[in-house]
Amino acid sequence: MDKIDQDNIGGFQTGLKGATADEIVDFAGKNLQSPVFATSLGQEDQVIAHLVANSGFNIPTITLDTGRLFPKTYDLIASTEEKLGLNIQIAFPDADEVEQMVDEEGINLFRKSIHSRKRCCEVRKMHPLKRSLEGSDGWICGLRRDQSPTRTEMHAVEWDSGNGIPKFNPLIDWSLDDVQRYLKENDVPYNPLHDQGFASIGCACCTRAIKPGEDLRAGRWWWEHPEQKECGLHFNPDGSIAKNK
Ligand code: SF4
Repeated sequence: MDKIDQDNIGGFQTGLKGATADEIVDFAGKNLQSPVFATSLGQEDQVIAHLVANSGFNIPTITLDTGRLFPKTYDLIASTEEKLGLNIQIAFPDADEVEQMVDEEGINLFRKSIHSRKRCCEVRKMHPLKRSLEGSDGWICGLRRDQSPTRTEMHAVEWDSGNGIPKFNPLIDWSLDDVQRYLKENDVPYNPLHDQGFASIGCACCTRAIKPGEDLRAGRWWWEHPEQKECGLHFNPDGSIAKNK
């Protein structure tokens, strides 16, 4: 198979159109030399953790500890490792970088401006993710098309120009109902905060429960406009949303 790169990504997007989540994970497991599954421990990623654990491929699983997570998220890391038999590698932000940022802008800088919020996400998430993906030729994550206005045009595989590798989205066509049904049917552990109205769970200080009928991502960075709500993990270096470019 040709190496997946920025120029031929469109062909792979066409080839994977309509593929099941299993098939997309298998495709990544078979065709990448060093795939990585990066999990945020959200409901979608718990589905993928189950698929990866049962795939028969050795796909290292990593997560980011930003230092600002909910205690229940740490419990979920432990229960997922135990129940699914996964060894979840944890990437931490660089201590010097965090200290400098907090010294310059304060511990809650993300409330000051979008620029400061993005800086915080960069230091606590993007840089550790970049380090974790070094040497990898593709990563897997749990994005779904209907999660946010910024994700409506995404495909099963996208070019992640920030990291210079393809990003696979096995659940791109799934609805939230599909995700929740899968977790229940397969008895996969998930964060109990989801049952308390937390649709999308990230750092405790930047996540809140949503009301019935609100957009799924209304509980993340609720002080910003919907178009600006990406954590940076799925942005290109120029600030555009990571897709086939
Ligand atoms: Fe910082 Fe909030 Fe981003 Fe977490 S979600 S890295 S606390 S801005």
